[in-house]
Amino acid sequence: MFLGHYAVAFAAKRAVPVVSLGTLILAAQFSDGLWPLFLLAGLEHVEIAPGNTPFTPLAFVDYPLSHSLLLCAVWAVALGGAYYLVRRYRAGALVVAALVLSHWVLDAASHRPDLPLYPGGGTLVGFGLWKSVPGTLAVESAMFAVGLWLYLASTRARDRTGVVALWALVVVLVAAYLGAAFGPPPPNVTVLAYSGAIGWLTVAWGYWVDRHREPAGSLATTG
Ligand SMILES: [Zn+2]
Repeated sequence: MFLGHYAVAFAAKRAVPVVSLGTLILAAQFSDGLWPLFLLAGLEHVEIAPGNTPFTPLAFVDYPLSHSLLLCAVWAVALGGAYYLVRRYRAGALVVAALVLSHWVLDAASHRPDLPLYPGGGTLVGFGLWKSVPGTLAVESAMFAVGLWLYLASTRARDRTGVVALWALVVVLVAAYLGAAFGPPPPNVTVLAYSGAIGWLTVAWGYWVDRHREPAGSLATTG
């Protein structure tokens, strides 16, 4: 899943308007941010195998550190805890932790059974939404539209950049999604891993957008 993770990041802004969109994207995408780093370090493995599922040419051989339920829970506590230490805002920390954990749940909906419960764990989870290309596109597009709508309803632009930067981010996300869905498979794992940098770029982009928008109406609270 790709757009779906961004959908929950956008949507979370409504629950905790003072938390930056960059932080929300970082949390929702955290597993996919770690994954390319672990691939390059040789700690996790993927194969490029077109047809693995109709939606993706990737066969996730093993990714126990970035994508097991247990480690996702650990990352959730770590990132939520770090947020709390820096900001002292409990609701924000809880939402950050929940977003990190949501990654595993949403991936479990999309992937074929390849998500471990814990490193080395026998049972692999995955409900296989990716078996249907139209189904995947419909679900993720709907999630993204709702998440974006909630974000737009929860914030307003402070200036022109607050509009342009947001919509440019939306265009880049949708283009990256369609490119992954309908473009050629990556030529090799190294190129795939380096293309994961786009995930980190969107985190920085989220902070940029957020600095040019503010909570709408009376939603602003302190924290
Ligand atoms: Zn993932």
